[in-house]
Amino acid sequence: MPARTVPQHVVVVGAGLAGAKTVEHLRARGFDGRLTLLGDEAERPYERPPLSKGYLLGSAARDEAFVHGPGWYADHDVDLRTGCRAVRLDLRAGEVLDADERRWRADAVVLATGSEPRPLGVPGADLDGVHQLRTLPDSDALREALTGRPRVAVVGGGWIGLEVAAAARQAGCEVTLLVRGPAPLLGALGPEGAELFAGLHREHGVDLRTGVEVDALLPAGTEVATGTGARRVGAVGLVGGDRVEADVVVVGIGAAPRVGLAREAGIALAGADVGGVAVDAHLRTSVPQVLAVGDIAAAEHPTLGERVRVEHWATALHQPETAAATLLGLDEPYDRLPYAFSDQYELGMEHVGHVGARGYDQVVVRGDLAGRECVLLWLRQGRVLAGTNVDVWDVVDHVEALVRSRSVVDPARLADPDVPWEELAP
Ligand SMILES: Cc1cc2nc3c(=O)[nH]c(=O)nc-3n(C[C@H](O)[C@H](O)[C@H](O)COP(=O)(O)OP(=O)(O)OC[C@H]3O[C@@H](n4cnc5c(N)ncnc54)[C@H](O)[C@@H]3O)c2cc1C
Repeated sequence: MPARTVPQHVVVVGAGLAGAKTVEHLRARGFDGRLTLLGDEAERPYERPPLSKGYLLGSAARDEAFVHGPGWYADHDVDLRTGCRAVRLDLRAGEVLDADERRWRADAVVLATGSEPRPLGVPGADLDGVHQLRTLPDSDALREALTGRPRVAVVGGGWIGLEVAAAARQAGCEVTLLVRGPAPLLGALGPEGAELFAGLHREHGVDLRTGVEVDALLPAGTEVATGTGARRVGAVGLVGGDRVEADVVVVGIGAAPRVGLAREAGIALAGADVGGVAVDAHLRTSVPQVLAVGDIAAAEHPTLGERVRVEHWATALHQPETAAATLLGLDEPYDRLPYAFSDQYELGMEHVGHVGARGYDQVVVRGDLAGRECVLLWLRQGRVLAGTNVDVWDVVDHVEALVRSRSVVDPARLADPDVPWEELAP
């Protein structure tokens, strides 16, 4: 990458984890120009994983969620503007416009606008007692709602749906988990992983219903939502006529990357299969002075050889170092493998690697699947693409080494926990 002039003023749009880490890495690498961080939430940047786990359960303190202490931004000469929504990128003028009609002149812009929950889009979705979970206030509201041990229906069998189901059970609530497909997490973990998590939740008393489609949220005491007035939810209506009684409904049906600013500025987006803003391995968009990081960044991946967008914490944590390097004219492509983690009840898991559009042709289980203490490995033509470790620890580096080695492995040896990881790849 040719060296570029280091910008004098960098404006970062989006004050989540990726935005906060971008300004941190710029300062850590000696950037002494002007730094502005615009965020539309009321809080300074925080991390979201605790919102569906410890913070929701009341076992983790609010302060633990914040990326930096309250004085960090002023101490590092970062102009953090909370409650400030960027509404337009004026690339010709080199400015970011906010909702209060202020213009932020910038030599470089980093987009870190993250994702927003997908709406349920059925009648009654606006009833009181219907929750989504993206922000600290969302988590506060849900935590408060769970204290009365309501009957909870969770719509959606992705990571957030499952973590909320676990938290609600741990809070002593009756929980029904409504999943459209044949099992939760099917897209992320395939049938083996999906069954493992389905069993976990059933054993913890969750009423898991698969193959169901929600067609309405119904107000308490009536059959049909009319969409008017402040009424509380009382049930979830399913296609086919069944209903699930619920005092609290949590909608966790996925998130969509916030790409509006980029799209309206004419910045290239990735294809619909990946979503997000298209960036190169240095995280530059189609407009070189505009970069994108975190949930919205669909980045060309040097090792995987395809464009990858990862809606997980580790990407928002690590991509900013690359973005900072790029802004400083350094050649440090982002080459970390996608990584995710989840905690549900007493079980913890990590996932590293990427199956990709071409899919896998074999799954190898190393360890005890029924006892939920194992590593699931996805292979194509004998090569490991990705692995998920469930209650088995310190193996991510080994899985990653196998993925990077691209070696053809013997599935029988891979499945045998007595064969050391180091002996699996030449
Ligand atoms: C409840 C929950 C639990 C999670 N748990 C896990 C987990 O266990 N493991 C894991 O790997 N990942 C987890 N994730 C995913 C992880 O939190 C995200 O991948 C990460 O937050 C992405 O960071 P980001 O900075 O890219 O985006 P975000 O965190 O979404 O931050 C973007 C920020 O930009 C702001 N913004 C957007 N548009 C504008 C604008 N126009 N002007 C100003 N500000 C704007 C947003 O309001 C937001 O504050 C979880 C996510 C949620 C919601």
